Amino acid sequence: MQSIYFTPEHTGFREALREFLLREVAPFAEDCETNRQLPRQLWQKLGHQGLLGLHYPKSLGGGEKDFFHSICFLEELGRLGYVGIRVAIGVHSYMATTYLYRSGSDSLKQQYLPSAIRGEKIFALAMTEPDAGSDLNRITTTATADGDDHFVVSGIKQYVANGTIADCVIVVVRTEPARQAPGRGATGLSLLLVDMHSEGVTTKAIDTLGMWSADTAEICFDQVRVPAANLIGKRNQGFFLIMQCLQLERLAAGTMALGGVEHCLELTWQFLSQREVGHQTLSRYQALRHRMADHITELNAARQLAYHAAWLYEKGALPIAECSMLKLKATELATQVAKDCMQFHGARGYNSNHAIARIYRDCQAASIAAGANEVMRDIIAQSALDEGLKKPC
Ligand SMILES: Cc1cc2nc3c(=O)[nH]c(=O)nc-3n(C[C@H](O)[C@H](O)[C@H](O)COP(=O)(O)OP(=O)(O)OC[C@H]3O[C@@H](n4cnc5c(N)ncnc54)[C@H](O)[C@@H]3O)c2cc1C
Repeated sequence: MQSIYFTPEHTGFREALREFLLREVAPFAEDCETNRQLPRQLWQKLGHQGLLGLHYPKSLGGGEKDFFHSICFLEELGRLGYVGIRVAIGVHSYMATTYLYRSGSDSLKQQYLPSAIRGEKIFALAMTEPDAGSDLNRITTTATADGDDHFVVSGIKQYVANGTIADCVIVVVRTEPARQAPGRGATGLSLLLVDMHSEGVTTKAIDTLGMWSADTAEICFDQVRVPAANLIGKRNQGFFLIMQCLQLERLAAGTMALGGVEHCLELTWQFLSQREVGHQTLSRYQALRHRMADHITELNAARQLAYHAAWLYEKGALPIAECSMLKLKATELATQVAKDCMQFHGARGYNSNHAIARIYRDCQAASIAAGANEVMRDIIAQSALDEGLKKPC
């Protein structure tokens, strides 16, 4: 579909990228699933190709490309059909390193971002804890000042993608006791870049239902000494930085999910076009054609929402409602499409090693991660209803 958002340069970039991902990533995807993480060589290959820092400035080793190059990349990652792979890469490039880029000191950025962009240092983001997920005010991982030069970090983080392989993790820590401040979000939080090779850091893989390549893990910090210079943003003001960075996280998660929907529909249409039942292929049965037509319509509507949110983001806005709407719409569409496509495949789609079965078990995670979809509905209700129905731009 032609779009006002993409130039011929984007189209050329997308074509080359699609070819690269099919040649260099797809053949290793099943190994990533089995080993539950991406091998370091693959990270470095992506880095060498300039794909891990498309949106970062050249001065830090990035590609300094406009944001629609990233949209092409995120969609094409989704089209690979492996949620775990896209989450691992998405967390590194569009979630964890975002904090460092937005609010790290110049020397911290120079020290870590170029190697992250080259795929030499892998990043993770650790917010969630056993007793704190949607409610960040319940975070109990503490960072206590030890003189002027260090913090000492203690606590447990869970469900961290890239958790065992990461070299660096951006950790949300408590630097002040929580206050109940209704409407003000979480208080007393800060962000620290922690070197995962520090003494006192241990990890344990979590046996998730799907998304296996994402290396989801628990990280335990036991009296870990972290230089005070690794503080990202202002002390005790972490919540505001999280709210800024979460918009890119949701934009990336939603866009990747839409790439996944396209892949799932392609796979299914191929199957329906080949499988004969009665006197014709399944693709000629109106009941199935109409369901597929509904899904492709929803996909294209959701894409316009993604592109609009990306356009606002590129202009420097912080499109909170649009990013939440996209994340909600794209991840729920992905779940619905996976369910229908499994049905259309008949029994073979239910084989645990079939691509459709993998997509089906992988996709539910996206409705929970990056903020549960119920939370997205709360945000949308607050920003687009309580604060007045938004007029179209
Ligand atoms: C595969 C995967 C990867 C993840 N990767 C990371 C990562 O890299 N780093 C990280 O820090 N975290 C990660 N997470 C954790 C994720 O961010 C949290 O799971 C999410 O924020 C929800 O927190 P919770 O699981 O504690 O659910 P809870 O906060 O306990 O909520 C449970 C359920 O209650 C409902 N609910 C919550 N709030 C509301 C509300 N306001 N209104 C109505 N219903 C509500 C929702 O259905 C929600 O799923 C990942 C999760 C998954 C599944």
